[in-house]
Amino acid sequence: MNDVKVFDLMEKDKYEQVVYFYDKSTGLKGITVIHNTTLGPALGGTRIWNYESEDDALKDCLRLARGMTYKAAAAGLNLGGGKTVLIGDPKIVKSEAYFRGLGRYVQSLNGRYITAEDVNTSTKDMSYVHMETDYVVGLEGKSGNPSPFTALGAFYGIKAALKYRFNNESIENYTFAVQGAGQTGYYLINYLLNAGAKKIYFSEINESHIARMKKEHPEVIYVEPKDIFTLDVDVFCPCALGGVLNDETIKVLKAPIIAGTANNVLLDEQTHGNALLDKGILYAPDFVINAGGLINVYYELNDYTKEKVEHDIKLIYDRLIQVFDISKNQNIPTQLAAKVFAKNRIESVRNLHDNYIKR
Ligand code: NAD
Repeated sequence: MNDVKVFDLMEKDKYEQVVYFYDKSTGLKGITVIHNTTLGPALGGTRIWNYESEDDALKDCLRLARGMTYKAAAAGLNLGGGKTVLIGDPKIVKSEAYFRGLGRYVQSLNGRYITAEDVNTSTKDMSYVHMETDYVVGLEGKSGNPSPFTALGAFYGIKAALKYRFNNESIENYTFAVQGAGQTGYYLINYLLNAGAKKIYFSEINESHIARMKKEHPEVIYVEPKDIFTLDVDVFCPCALGGVLNDETIKVLKAPIIAGTANNVLLDEQTHGNALLDKGILYAPDFVINAGGLINVYYELNDYTKEKVEHDIKLIYDRLIQVFDISKNQNIPTQLAAKVFAKNRIESVRNLHDNYIKR
């Protein structure tokens, strides 16, 4: 018996729509959540996960959809927040028909929701979705790999944090510790090197990624994963996992700035956001600094050019400065300030719609 009260959850955080779907021919079983469409259609990827229960799937989908509302709003995009979760073992369930089935449900929402790839789904899977609907982005041969764009946004975000903290954003004056040299970490290290970074350390657990960095940039210093937090550097860049800012790591962190690409960096937003504030560490909130990939994919809907995307990604710098100002003026953690910033934009656009205008 489902003991979650769906309407209570929807009411609490003002969700617009929750859709359950099941396709009898493929066994496709999923949930699409549309959190908020004030700014535009809800966009968010589709993830496949073998959830322990339907309640877990719903809660994950609700949380992720709401996160997308804030992320798109803070990135200045005319998009709302949504997400789809498919319940099943990705090693077993995937097929052409399965994803075309998903495409048909996406199409049935008639543009209120746009999907994309996410955990355990690929651009190839989305090409099947695309056979049934146009409401899908991140397709092969379109905006391409989002990671270099995410890393570029983080690069500008780092500059904003340096400017805010030291009133000097020249990368060559500073030292960096990058956790994870995978897709985004690798590109970020390259941007930092090109800008003349004084010294860069990195940690990794994937041998081939360690070897790639050592071969391409022997000047970037490898450290063991456990040692990355305690380095005496100016900027710590989380580019690997979530939850890395927690009771243990915040205690030992020496870097005065934290800015990277990873999602859900704070283990607990409230507790660890406050802990960073108390320690005087400037944290660039994840969903603001890592929006480059979303900005890139957004332009698939709007005459994609690399120039437009890069111009828009550069604005992450200004947006972070505004978030830091809110944090300072209201004496609240930057993660909370980022939500205030996003909500302010949604509210101001919603208020505009008070007047009826014929288009
Ligand atoms: P990735 O898997 O390509 O890279 C992560 C790297 O971290 C891997 O090489 C992995 O081996 C390494 N790693 C894992 N655990 C580690 C540890 N304990 N210590 C050091 N290294 C470790 O992933 P990615 O695409 O670069 O994404 C990284 C983070 O950025 C994730 O949190 C992701 O959600 C977020 N993000 C990525 C994008 C994007 O465009 N790829 C966009 C927004 C957010």
